[in-house]
Amino acid sequence: MKIHSLLILLWSILSGGLVFAQQTPQTIADAKLPSLLTIYKDIHSHPELSCHEERTSALIAKELRATGCEVTENFGKYDNPNLKGYGVIGIMKNGDGPTVLVRTDMDALPVEEETGLPYASHAVAKNDDGKDVHVMHACGHDAHMSAFIGVARALAKVKDQWHGTILFVAQPAEETGNGARALLNAGLYEQFGKPDFALGFHDKADMQTGHIGVTEG
Ligand SMILES: [Zn+2]
Repeated sequence: MKIHSLLILLWSILSGGLVFAQQTPQTIADAKLPSLLTIYKDIHSHPELSCHEERTSALIAKELRATGCEVTENFGKYDNPNLKGYGVIGIMKNGDGPTVLVRTDMDALPVEEETGLPYASHAVAKNDDGKDVHVMHACGHDAHMSAFIGVARALAKVKDQWHGTILFVAQPAEETGNGARALLNAGLYEQFGKPDFALGFHDKADMQTGHIGVTEG
């Protein structure tokens, strides 16, 4: 696989920019946008706290399976044995080539939504102290997941334009910081192979719409 092509593809899906011959990321993104928005609104109105991403992870698993990925659910091992790992791993194989990890996060925050949007969250859940808290995707993980599903769908559609393996990773408990550790503790790289490249992204409220900031390392 040409990693460069993948980066352009991911970039284009996210920014709606560059154009390939044949089926372009732009045409794929345009075609997929309505259904991805439906997924976005569904996820937004059903947020789940860190380490409790049961419904969300099932949705991700279903969508990855629909793109032809080999999917492993309930992946992850926390230090606290009472917590269940809801990580989802999807493998998309497409011949010889490097392995690229593409990552999203899944958890929401104990925040009350006051946007008044038709798909606003009204969710209430118990936090780790047993107290009822409002829950909201206030950090943008709903957008991350929708784009992640869009990337999987697009890569499945243009398999003639890349070679290698994509390791899709839906990470639980990003907000509390222990979800990534739980995936490593469960043997993410031992079980699924260590990727040659890892791509993750996070939305950023102070960055202009349509722009992407990139950092190495
Ligand atoms: Zn976040």
